[in-house]
Amino acid sequence: MPHDSHDHDHGAHALLPPDPALRVRALETLLARKGFVDPAAMDAILDFYENRIGPRIGATVVARAWTDPDFRAALREDSTAALAAEGLLGRQGEHMVVVENTPEVHNVVVCTLCSCYPWPLLGIPPSWYKSDAYRARVVREPRKVLSEFGLTLPEAQSVRVWDSTAEIRYLVLPMRPEGTEGLGAEALADWVTRNAMIGTGLPERPQ
Ligand code: FE
Repeated sequence: MPHDSHDHDHGAHALLPPDPALRVRALETLLARKGFVDPAAMDAILDFYENRIGPRIGATVVARAWTDPDFRAALREDSTAALAAEGLLGRQGEHMVVVENTPEVHNVVVCTLCSCYPWPLLGIPPSWYKSDAYRARVVREPRKVLSEFGLTLPEAQSVRVWDSTAEIRYLVLPMRPEGTEGLGAEALADWVTRNAMIGTGLPERPQ
């Protein structure tokens, strides 16, 4: 739940499970039991928005930044303005900061308070992004959490964790992988995974 849309006064919700995930699960169970929704169809829709449609927009932005120095410079100068010029801002992503990975610094994004996420660029957040474990641990022990995602960074590269808020959402601009020199922006976008743009992964050769 975005933390601009609730006021942390849970008095009115006292009868509901406190955790938003539990609340959603309870609602889903109820709807499925009454035959209003098919859980398999719901999973397919979620998968579509979590893994395909949403992140593809962010991947296009990353690929363009890799291939268009002017766009990259504009993102550095003022990410929000550069994205607005492309019509890529929207609800849950009105103010964006693109943070650039370098050999010296690897960036990771979290929302420690709830689940703020750049919806217009990445779609809806994956469930792990909203989990208490990720939100608490990535701040305390980022390298350990990243290793659990299969990402082991060189010791020389420091890790910077960015805490999203209702006001500012972050997108990680990963480093362009070796071996992609001849590729154009469209082919490059296929390398950009959702997790690479959250910082819990790196770009990968497409299957
Ligand atoms: Fe949040």
